[in-house]
Amino acid sequence: MSRNPWSPRTQLIAAGRPAAVGAPLNTPIVAASNYTLGAARDYARGHGTPTWEAMEEVIGRLEGGSAIAFASGMAAIAAVLDTLPVGARVAAPHDCYAGTGALLRDAAAAGRWSVTWLDPTETGSWTAALDHDLLWLESPTNPMLHVMDLPTILHAARQGRCRTVVDNTFATPLGQQPLRLGADLVVHSATKYLGGHSDLMAGVVVTSEAEGEELLRGRRTLLGGTPGMLEAFLVTRGLRTLGLRVDAAGANAAALAERLAEHPEVTRVRYPGLPSHPGHALAASFMDGFGAMVSFEVSGGSARADRACRSTALIRHATSLGGVESTMERRGALAGQEHVPAELIRLSVGCEDLEDLWTDLAAALGRSGPAPGR
Ligand SMILES: *Cc1c(COP(=O)(O)O)cnc(C)c1O
Repeated sequence: MSRNPWSPRTQLIAAGRPAAVGAPLNTPIVAASNYTLGAARDYARGHGTPTWEAMEEVIGRLEGGSAIAFASGMAAIAAVLDTLPVGARVAAPHDCYAGTGALLRDAAAAGRWSVTWLDPTETGSWTAALDHDLLWLESPTNPMLHVMDLPTILHAARQGRCRTVVDNTFATPLGQQPLRLGADLVVHSATKYLGGHSDLMAGVVVTSEAEGEELLRGRRTLLGGTPGMLEAFLVTRGLRTLGLRVDAAGANAAALAERLAEHPEVTRVRYPGLPSHPGHALAASFMDGFGAMVSFEVSGGSARADRACRSTALIRHATSLGGVESTMERRGALAGQEHVPAELIRLSVGCEDLEDLWTDLAAALGRSGPAPGR
């Protein structure tokens, strides 16, 4: 196959397929932990499998680097953090994925390294933190949907030789490609949009440096956070429709965010695609689309928000995100999420019919918003 002549949406469909005449169209599930000795590949944990490599090839093409598949987003994140020496200094946004925050805090409490928590939207505090060993970036953030100035921060970090990681789970590689903006590493929870059907757990690290790739493959080999064969196959299968899903879910999210903003029971909508979002112009300057995550706050506090989450008929009251089905939950109910407003509902918008979603949301909020089909 010729290298990269196609758009990302085509690469999603074309990459990661066996090339030989007579080969199957899809890279099959190779259910083998070990291989007959004598060639480069002897044991899956150390040398990978064709099934993982198909997933890695598709994601690597999209992000513009080499991808390494892991068992989950957290396995990928833990492998990256494991490369830090004892005593390292990490800067991280105070609104970052709850698991990342917990892992950073645990390791800091154990004296392994120190963490500086920064406001994701205060770009100056990030460009003043280049004396840290690693900047951990996430944008848009989970669940507050702050937009970080990735171009400015990544450029400054590159100039200052400060290492950077971007958790790109919310934006997907179709929304932004941080390696192309200067990041050293990108991580994803492939459990979310990349898989796209809430039926697997997987993660990935992407790097543009041969040295970084070697180091992280070594972490996978020794820490053992390897993906299952079926899971990797399903991620590749999910990636084939990522473009279609992201477009459909993004269009639904934009429409729902607008309608929610007009709803009398909704006090605030956080969606970077709304012109009223403080990060709207910034997001528009470097992102392609605004994603399909919408956080909103309701009047009546946490009890009202809990009631809304439990009274939908179509939208599932469930955690996680990025599936074809819409889900929502009150994120502030989780331990470690005390900075999240108690009445904030995080909605992962899926690919259902828009009017069905709005009818369901409006009913759960009390039927006083703009009429369906408006
Ligand atoms: C879910 C998530 C993770 C963790 O991924 P798992 O696959 O659940 O281990 C990391 N970052 C973000 C932004 C996430 O949403």
